[in-house]
Amino acid sequence: MSNPSNLSELASQLRLPAEPVRTPMYIDGKDYSRAGSEFVTRKSPGHGVPVTVTSRASVDDLNVAVAAARRAFDDGRWSRLSGEQRATVLLKTAVLIRDNVEVLAYLETLESGKPIGQSRGEVNAAAGIWEYAAGLARVAHGDSHDTLGADMFGLVVRQPVGVVGIVTPWNFPFFILSERLPFVLAAGCTAVIKPSELTSTTTLKLAALLTEAGLPDGVVNVVTGFGSVVGQALAEHMDVDMISFTGSTPVGRSVLVAAGGNMKKVGLELGGKNPQIVFADADLDDAADAIAFGICFNAGQCCVSGSRLVVHRSVEQELVERVKAVIEKVRVGDPLDATNHVGAIVEARQFDKILGFIEAGKRDGAQLVCGGTATSEGERFFIQPTVFRNVDAHSELAQEEIFGPVLSVTSFDTAEQAMQIANSVPYGLAASIWTRDLQGAIRSVRDVQAGRIWVNCTITGGPELPIGGVKQSGIGRETGRYGIEEYTELKSVHIQLGNRPRWIA
Ligand code: NDP
Repeated sequence: MSNPSNLSELASQLRLPAEPVRTPMYIDGKDYSRAGSEFVTRKSPGHGVPVTVTSRASVDDLNVAVAAARRAFDDGRWSRLSGEQRATVLLKTAVLIRDNVEVLAYLETLESGKPIGQSRGEVNAAAGIWEYAAGLARVAHGDSHDTLGADMFGLVVRQPVGVVGIVTPWNFPFFILSERLPFVLAAGCTAVIKPSELTSTTTLKLAALLTEAGLPDGVVNVVTGFGSVVGQALAEHMDVDMISFTGSTPVGRSVLVAAGGNMKKVGLELGGKNPQIVFADADLDDAADAIAFGICFNAGQCCVSGSRLVVHRSVEQELVERVKAVIEKVRVGDPLDATNHVGAIVEARQFDKILGFIEAGKRDGAQLVCGGTATSEGERFFIQPTVFRNVDAHSELAQEEIFGPVLSVTSFDTAEQAMQIANSVPYGLAASIWTRDLQGAIRSVRDVQAGRIWVNCTITGGPELPIGGVKQSGIGRETGRYGIEEYTELKSVHIQLGNRPRWIA
């Protein structure tokens, strides 16, 4: 990593940098910069001071990165290695991530505004995903068919899809990348990554760690800058074979169109408006704690936030009181203070958007239970976790992805009604179900429209199970064994044993 000693010192003391940390782009195994290029200065949303500087890539820079990834894929320097060799690099990367956890977490917190303890947890958990994917590099395989008769044998070969473009958002920069990149690499693909321009630094640091771990040059390349320029060009690029996009549903839709030029494969993980469905027999204490966590985690800027509480009318009041009691103990503030549970909102635009929804909730007659207040002095953006009761299931508050710490509560009388409300949004990313009735839980699991479901828990799990959405929440799956399959293509082979039967005798 560049500038390691100074950064390590700052990270260990959790001090703000006197000068912003500058990190160039990373292409073909080395730092990359171009004379005359422009830069992006990022201010910490928790402190209001400049903390990092990254480059604003042009389409020419992107073309350099894609050419490097294309060469690295086509000459087989990575795709033709054995699974064992690829696994060795992924495991070494996991070790390096753990060795650098303090610096990575510190940079993540500076740019994203999330609490430092949470950043450390995410970086450590990300290392675990790299380890899991290393195992997959060795077990991924195709199929054979010995049922085609005496003279025919069939093979299904699984091959890497090629050059993968990865566009990531600002809410979990390191973790979301680690849910994709190790699987891309385990499959034998090469990559060009475009992180959010707000939170690019940990992605750049990871690219350097990959080289240190023995990844051949050109296999992973990072371009930084604006999504509307380089993200768009990456999605359109004719030399890119697949685009993996994580972010908002409207931009996901435009990526789908952009990918049409060369019909590249597309993976999308998009927005969510995820229900917490609580039945009358649920353990309300357990549920209340998880519901508060589900809306406060990452200040609600989380695609799987449990942002809609859909609760049986008979327990609604009691549950809301318990949720409020938990939220009242939540500490919001300086993300470098390890005692805080909730940090800053990522930027002014997002802050204003969330406040707009809070105003809309009040205007539409929902009852404000707690929160609703905010501070933005000195370009520091904090919002108190907010709960609205009596929210009309069709209102803006209940339908739109707010991406902030705002919970809307709607009641139901029957299980059918609960499912109707839960499924009434265009999204289908995640859902949580709270009940002691196992049969009822299984029925709800069947009926709720979501790619990821939690029963009597929320926002938990490791890389073993797949993630992704249905409806307008996305296409494809990441992690689990499906995570590597996502980045492969199947090739089927028929092999004639002996002579082929003659067409014309
Ligand atoms: P975007 O969808 O705009 O951004 C996500 C990523 O896509 C960023 O790297 C961005 O680059 C890039 N991007 C932007 N435009 C294009 C494009 N035309 N082609 C390719 N890539 C592009 O999300 P925002 O950051 O603007 O957040 C807005 C809303 O999106 C949030 O309020 C939330 O509702 C939702 N969201 C959902 C996420 C999820 O995980 N489901 C994650 C983040 C946001 P850059 O920002 O650098 O310009």
